[in-house]
Amino acid sequence: MTDIDTKARQVAVKIEHLMSMVEYDYNRDEPCLVCKQKYKHHIDGLACESDDNPKQIVRFTTSSTNKKIKLKP
Ligand SMILES: [Zn+2]
Repeated sequence: MTDIDTKARQVAVKIEHLMSMVEYDYNRDEPCLVCKQKYKHHIDGLACESDDNPKQIVRFTTSSTNKKIKLKP
């Protein structure tokens, strides 16, 4: 990759991480750019912040029903 590609990639990953916070309630099943896992499987529920430091992936086998808690009226 060229330097520009690398920079663009870093920016894209950063933006994705930001969006994973902003749209937290709606993007649980979105795949992460870095590790391709769904956001909901990340240790903190957010996308990875960089290619060098992918987050731990957790899969909850006991609570697969995944009851949604509605915060909005
Ligand atoms: Zn990830």
